[in-house]
Amino acid sequence: MAKKTAAPPVSPSVPRDDTADTARLLAALQMHWGYDEFRPLQQAAMLSVLQGEDSLVVLPTGGGKSLCYQAPAICMDGVAVVISPLISLMKDQVDALRANGVPSAFINSTLTAQEKRDIAADLDAKRLKLIYLAPEGLDSERLIKRLRDAGVSFFAIDEAHCVSHWGHDFRPHYRRLKFLREQFPEVGIHAFTATANERVRDDIIEQLSLRQPQVLVGSFDRPNLTYRVERRNKLPSQISAIMERHKDQAGIIYCISRKEVETVSTQLNEMGYKTRPYHAGLSDEDRQKHQEQFIRDEIQTIVATVAFGMGIDKPDVRYVIHAGIPKSIEHYQQETGRAGRDGLEAECWLFLSGKDLQTWKYIFKDQPEAVRKASERSLLSMLDYADGVVCRHRALVQHFGQDLPADCGDSCDLCRGEVTFVETPLPTAQKILSSIHRQGERFGGEYTARVLTGNSDERVTRNGHEKLSTYGLLKDQTMSVVQDWIGDLLRQGFLERDGEYQTLTITPLGRKLLKSEGTVRLRIAVSDQPESSEFQRASSGRTRRPEKADSMEGVDAGLFEELKHLRLELAREREVPPYIIFGDSALREMARLRPTDEEGFLNVRGVGDKKCADFGEAFLEAITTYCEENEVATDVKAAATRTIVWTTGPRPREAASSSALKVFPMFEAGVSIAEVVGKTGRALSTVQGYLGEFLRSRKIIDPSPWVDPATAARVVTACEEIGSSDRLTPIFEHLGGTVNYETLRIVVTCLRNQKVDEE
Ligand code: ADP
Ligand code: ZN
Repeated sequence: MAKKTAAPPVSPSVPRDDTADTARLLAALQMHWGYDEFRPLQQAAMLSVLQGEDSLVVLPTGGGKSLCYQAPAICMDGVAVVISPLISLMKDQVDALRANGVPSAFINSTLTAQEKRDIAADLDAKRLKLIYLAPEGLDSERLIKRLRDAGVSFFAIDEAHCVSHWGHDFRPHYRRLKFLREQFPEVGIHAFTATANERVRDDIIEQLSLRQPQVLVGSFDRPNLTYRVERRNKLPSQISAIMERHKDQAGIIYCISRKEVETVSTQLNEMGYKTRPYHAGLSDEDRQKHQEQFIRDEIQTIVATVAFGMGIDKPDVRYVIHAGIPKSIEHYQQETGRAGRDGLEAECWLFLSGKDLQTWKYIFKDQPEAVRKASERSLLSMLDYADGVVCRHRALVQHFGQDLPADCGDSCDLCRGEVTFVETPLPTAQKILSSIHRQGERFGGEYTARVLTGNSDERVTRNGHEKLSTYGLLKDQTMSVVQDWIGDLLRQGFLERDGEYQTLTITPLGRKLLKSEGTVRLRIAVSDQPESSEFQRASSGRTRRPEKADSMEGVDAGLFEELKHLRLELAREREVPPYIIFGDSALREMARLRPTDEEGFLNVRGVGDKKCADFGEAFLEAITTYCEENEVATDVKAAATRTIVWTTGPRPREAASSSALKVFPMFEAGVSIAEVVGKTGRALSTVQGYLGEFLRSRKIIDPSPWVDPATAARVVTACEEIGSSDRLTPIFEHLGGTVNYETLRIVVTCLRNQKVDEE
């Protein structure tokens, strides 16, 4: 990976001893955080720090990046210097570290002269393990000298994408960080970010002069989030249904415009909820106040524009609602990423309406041409996601060039069977395709919908299209329904958008569909369901399934509430956010295990030595009293209570489910995916997942029943030319995007089976 630098690698001063180093790291995790295992990639990332290499770590929000540098800092001599762009976060991080007994400090413009002197004295006396600085802070030569004298263990660059022009948050001061390598050639540099595509990663490596860095990229999937998309109809009641499920829990509601923020916030307050608005039109003071109230659990809900969220790492946000479509998938991932950082379940809802597109276009209208086009493309990808028909977890990670071994199963509306589809879609799809064909494939979606709904205008009559046999064929439907269906056809590959005017053309797959070959799905949007019976809801499983269990298994709810009150009290006394005392996950585990002595308390995940010493007595007393009064059993064994699973990259593979096994004979007989979809009535994505399982478990090495031999041969050649079949994106790109991911996945799985066979 380190192709950009000619500098020799740093040889660690001591030989690697992963076992001993791992033991030291685990001891630090246990002692200071009360955690007993690593999350995915944390171990590799921490070892890289400890062993004096350079690294670049890309993990999603909530993936546990901070620990990757905090734990090694404790195990090393000297002080770790953390560069962070967000002043508000520095204080929170340092408060949290101190609460865990880790000597640390931050320097930024908010400090008084006296505070700065105290920190300087601490540095000189080598009392600190971590110091947080804004990049501007390194401009001071005195500080550099002071750090040098104190001995820097390593540099951690947080939000490292800020270094790159290609990232979405470039900060000029980050560019100057290169000088760290020149000034401290012997010290390791470690970059951390949640968002970096390959281009940004390469840029970070180059800009920071990283030397043969370990590049660790985690799965972008957030398995604890449930994603759903619905049409917006009665927004306040749509939102309140969610809030009712999360009484006394934190949530964020994003709106596109300030005006909408104010409207929604007022409406909710009138309904009896306590919310605060947040947008750039408010005074700094109000914004600050509302943010503080939110962080300190004084109010549960913030209604905000995208201006809200940077610099907030509140771990217990239980829902994020988008009241309008965000402007790109990157934004959506970032904003929903603020839910469930603590690893517990959280809900993400997107309510969209046809008007959103216009609103954004209006906002984009004054941008320079090229920027505007790019903005519109991003928005279109987001709209495609919203109307997608494959598992939302899969769709999101695919956008970032990754994939999942299987659909989420029950963490998105599509996998949960909450989206309804037209029962016999083929005739409707054919009407649409046929109209596009008759129009000469020279028009866009809106025009086509106009023709099909018999909605004539001057353009239609000028082209004589009111005389087409398809004119008015779908006159029972609204324009927007037909446009949605055209979108469905696009996403399923029956149509393509072409050229500057995004005219619709029919793909070979679409031509087959016209001959009734293949399977198509057209969705029924909730608000669009017409009275007529032709589009009645498909029968099976359409009533909403109960929400996913809230990791509350075994948790005594009354005790949990009690402990939350205690936490709030302690937090107010100390003037820190409640989560600095304990996170929700630790409180839940306390209310599950119900320990009555110090040893039991230390067994709670999230309780380290320092917190046990500081808060043990208060919490143990609360637990004992509650359990006595309510005759609840205490000192429950830990083993049976773990419910949160953090998987290594891909989620754990379930044994082939019985439904998957039922389909295996069809695959064995070489039945096509489309036919299996047709015969089983399962979602395309589900069947694709089954096929993957089938290929792997039966070690199939010949993809020909599902992929035509010429395409398969091209994929194999591409893998050979790249020298790897580990990741699909490079193959996809190598083939110029001409072979879709599903096909790539099939061929690559067969290739891998072959390799395993040969070994
Ligand atoms: P990021 O910086 O990647 O967004 P954080 O470092 O803030 O993520 O971690 C998110 C949450 O997960 C925090 O509450 C943190 O304490 C918790 N966490 C991190 N690592 C572990 C671990 N190994 N075991 C349990 N919880 C962890
Ligand atoms: Zn899913």
